[in-house]
Amino acid sequence: MTAISIIENRADEVQLPHWLQECLLNQSEADSDDSLICQAFNFAYQLHEGQTRKSGEPYIAHPIAVASLLRDLGGDSVTIAAGFLHDVVEDTEVTPEKIEEMFGVQVRLLVEGVTKLSKFNFSSTTERQAENFRRMFLAMATDIRVIVVKLADRLHNMRTLDHLKPEKQRRISQETREIFAPLANRLGIGRFKWELEDLCFKYLEPEAYEEIKALIAERRADREARIAQVTETLRSRLEKLKINVIELKGRPKHLYGIYQKMQRQQKEFSQIYDIAAFRIIVETNEECYRALAVVHDAFKPIPGRFKDYIGLPKPNRYQSLHTTVVGSNGRPIEIQIRTVEMHHIAEYGIAAHWKYKETGTSNTNLSSEDNKFAWLRQLLEWQKDLSDAQEYMESVKDNLFEDDVYVFTPDGDVIALAQGATPVDFAYRIHSEIGNHMKGARVNGRWSVLSKPLENGDIVEIITQKNSHPSLDWLNFVVSPTARNRIRQWYKRSHREENIARGKELLEKELGKSGFDSLLKSEPMQMVTQRCNYQSVEDLLAALGYGEVTQNQVVNRLRDVVKEQQPVEEISETEDTTTPFVQDYTERHGSKSPIIGVEGMLYHIAGCCKPLPGESIIGLVTLSSRGISIHRQGCHNVDKVPGERIIPVSWNDGSETGKPLTYPVDIQIEAMDRVGVLKDILARLSDRGINIRNAGVKTSRNKPALISLSLDIRDRQQLEYVFQRIKSMSDILNITRVMNSGDH
Ligand code: MN
Repeated sequence: MTAISIIENRADEVQLPHWLQECLLNQSEADSDDSLICQAFNFAYQLHEGQTRKSGEPYIAHPIAVASLLRDLGGDSVTIAAGFLHDVVEDTEVTPEKIEEMFGVQVRLLVEGVTKLSKFNFSSTTERQAENFRRMFLAMATDIRVIVVKLADRLHNMRTLDHLKPEKQRRISQETREIFAPLANRLGIGRFKWELEDLCFKYLEPEAYEEIKALIAERRADREARIAQVTETLRSRLEKLKINVIELKGRPKHLYGIYQKMQRQQKEFSQIYDIAAFRIIVETNEECYRALAVVHDAFKPIPGRFKDYIGLPKPNRYQSLHTTVVGSNGRPIEIQIRTVEMHHIAEYGIAAHWKYKETGTSNTNLSSEDNKFAWLRQLLEWQKDLSDAQEYMESVKDNLFEDDVYVFTPDGDVIALAQGATPVDFAYRIHSEIGNHMKGARVNGRWSVLSKPLENGDIVEIITQKNSHPSLDWLNFVVSPTARNRIRQWYKRSHREENIARGKELLEKELGKSGFDSLLKSEPMQMVTQRCNYQSVEDLLAALGYGEVTQNQVVNRLRDVVKEQQPVEEISETEDTTTPFVQDYTERHGSKSPIIGVEGMLYHIAGCCKPLPGESIIGLVTLSSRGISIHRQGCHNVDKVPGERIIPVSWNDGSETGKPLTYPVDIQIEAMDRVGVLKDILARLSDRGINIRNAGVKTSRNKPALISLSLDIRDRQQLEYVFQRIKSMSDILNITRVMNSGDH
């Protein structure tokens, strides 16, 4: 069959648009873009053969119309091809793989994206839901061309809605008003937005629609005379100043816009004056402002109505000057002034980019991967430029760039969750009782691991059982504070004994076994309980068990209490030794002095540098009653001291006593805040018989956890070993030895 016979054969069934006929006729000499478009048309034609629309016309009329809309927007060949093929995966036997094989991966991705978006049923939308849907659309369509194809599909369906039942007309119109028209607006495609809105208006408020339409028609003669008069005034003035006017005309605003204004301002149609708007299109930005001056000179501007969207473009990239002036008969006239390019962007929005790319050789290559990303990059850049572009930030950044995840309930409601949210987060979002009795989850019809993060578009079903209950393990993977709190609350309520035991265990690990039980009954512990606002020590332990307080908080409070009870002058320089339940290290070494050179003298290890065996040390005669302080060679506190106060000392290696001597060392570790990291560190150290005097963890959001350890270390080698041991753990970011300062 020749191209002409194809066209002729089809002519009786469906009218091919002129551009398509041309494309088919020139196919032999066509470039690859044209042949992609023709092949897509031919393939769709064959596949939809025999199918008809509700209107009775051949189904192919719909893909042709969609492809034509996309072509009018300036769509590239991939987009136009996707327009022809957008319904074949859903309505015919063709697989996405086949489309890729025939038309390449990009066409496949667009068709698949549109098919995916078509699967959702929006019947339960509310205002909030609609917002979620719009966001989800943007999030799911990683290539915005998917949305543009979907919008063209919807626009043609709305244009041909007459053939459906009223009930369906209303449902589709409602959905279009809530989801598709706002999407078109966000993408700046003005001509789609206005037409979609007017079509929805026609089906959703048919009486008001007809009324406004009739009223506009009624006043037509009057309005046109007025428009002609204003146009004449402006044109002659603009010409006098040699401003190159490309277009100057007035026309009624779109019906839904007038209706909204009546609703918003609670006015009758007769009170809405400015149903006509004037548009002046000029060549340059500078001419826009000069034209504005002309307008304000010819008519009296209404204060507060001038808006400069050229200097400050709208989030969707719209630019224009807007002003309202008072016409000769006292009625307000709305005027928009813009350049040709601005006008194009106002009409085509994001798709204008297709036409306004640098023309030349690259223009035929719009489908390349490069262009696709350039387009997305452009989006990001607009966003950066417009710091006050609230709406744009919300619609594009938050959604295209994965801050949230949108999933469905089995009923089709959309739930927005934080990135990384799991079925457990979902369950608690629905209701705390659903979370508390959750037994399992089905995601897209399949059983899912509870800890597996959900993805956009997942359909999540929670299976509950009366005697199922939360697991503490869930705390390791839930991301929402609600879920976390509910799980804790549940434990608090139902597991008191377990919690007390767990709290005890945690605290014992921190403070050591010896004297632990009597410590729990001690007065300091009572005070800690009071300060933490619990009734009894048991309550405190239970709270510790389910994580309402941390062991660190308890230990710190305890230390404070003990410190307060100590007479001030007895506070020794190594603060660890002030707590009675931590043994004073000197006691641990018996009477044998670990330092040679200070025999018979009072001495202490300096808290500032805490020297270790194996390190060079010096003794410093202090002026206090505490005798000689032992410092590391090179300790900054010794530098300033006169030489006569320094005495030579060295380490006793402990061989005489047969008992290894140890010395306190403080270290600080920065670790990824993972549950159990401290436990792992402690386990590694106690494996090697290293005594831990004190341990604490400080955590803060989005920062590494800070772990402080006080260890009993034998010598330098052992300390190096400890460092190595801890560093080799994957969660450890940094480890340092802590030196106190200002201590002699
Ligand atoms: Mn369709």
